Amino acid sequence: MAYVIETELTSAKKQKPAADRLGFGNYFTDHMFMMDYEGKLGWHRPRIVPYQPISLDPAAKVFHYGQTVFEGLKAYRTADGRVLLFRPQKNFRRLNQSNGRLSIPAIDEEFALQALKQLISIDRDWIPSEEGTSLYIRPFVIATQPSLGASSSTHYQFIIILSPVGPYYAEGIHPVKIHVESEYVRAVKGGIGMAKTAGNYAAGLKAQDDAAQHGFAQVLWLDGVHRKYVEEVGSMNVFFKVDGKVLTPALNGSLLDGVVRDSILQLLRSWNIPAEERLISIDELYEAHRSGTLEEAFGTGTAAVISPIGELNWRGERLVINGGTTGELSAKLYETLTGIQRGELEDQLGWMVEVE
Ligand SMILES: *Cc1c(COP(=O)(O)O)cnc(C)c1O
Repeated sequence: MAYVIETELTSAKKQKPAADRLGFGNYFTDHMFMMDYEGKLGWHRPRIVPYQPISLDPAAKVFHYGQTVFEGLKAYRTADGRVLLFRPQKNFRRLNQSNGRLSIPAIDEEFALQALKQLISIDRDWIPSEEGTSLYIRPFVIATQPSLGASSSTHYQFIIILSPVGPYYAEGIHPVKIHVESEYVRAVKGGIGMAKTAGNYAAGLKAQDDAAQHGFAQVLWLDGVHRKYVEEVGSMNVFFKVDGKVLTPALNGSLLDGVVRDSILQLLRSWNIPAEERLISIDELYEAHRSGTLEEAFGTGTAAVISPIGELNWRGERLVINGGTTGELSAKLYETLTGIQRGELEDQLGWMVEVE
């Protein structure tokens, strides 16, 4: 379908925050993208408008039944002033996979990417250039039909907002302590764990808050059926290096198909480092730690790229990994991925997409 994006530029540009005050997701650019859905019209009326509050009926279904999905990706400014997106097609592909699971109508992926590029071009001045900074992109869909009927909405909005963000690691990449969660579960196979949707985050907050109270950065989620196989760490995918081999949980329906996860598997293959996607039990990791072969562990996701795990706390026992320091492979993956994203290393796998 051929869409025309109406554009209304702001008459009051906001002041941009200093780079050292950015943090994550606190500031938003001057414009946003919106598009509506309703039965006969399908997805229609794409528009770029000044960033502003949206008005919804209190009965809008998203508030009551959580019919909503989101994405997260980043635009990077290179030293020579170009603007690059990291594998954005994967994000729009996944948005539609999430849409499918939440019974939300699919969006034209190619058009969504084109709309995003147009929005970024307009707010290009907002992309910070300081080391480690980027423009975080949050596409999302909400169910807007004003009705308390517990059925799929007839109306939706697809919105993209942009937020300049500071470096994830202000003091350099460093390992965190993780609590292995044995009481709560995040998702089960057949549920919504494979979708990027609010409900999975809501389900994780209590465990995350309890873990934080005990001094842990995040929880390591075990599967919901056997309470035995590792799935994700916080809202990141998780990897372990055991006896020279890299292991990550296989995509089984209850965990998210991360873009960084996939990119790491591709890099490892290109480096001839053995990598396996399979079931990994917490007992296997415990045994590996006991025998001295649990060499590294790290989480992966767009925000941090790589988050090294320095310690796992399981049933009150502390499993310190690599002396609580960042492993060699974790550091190399971090340097490689961020180097490609900033346009400093050659993009051999054809991942980067330029915004003109
Ligand atoms: C977004 C997300 C990830 C990481 O995905 P990336 O595409 O690598 O950023 C992992 N797990 C969950 C639950 C997520 O929501």
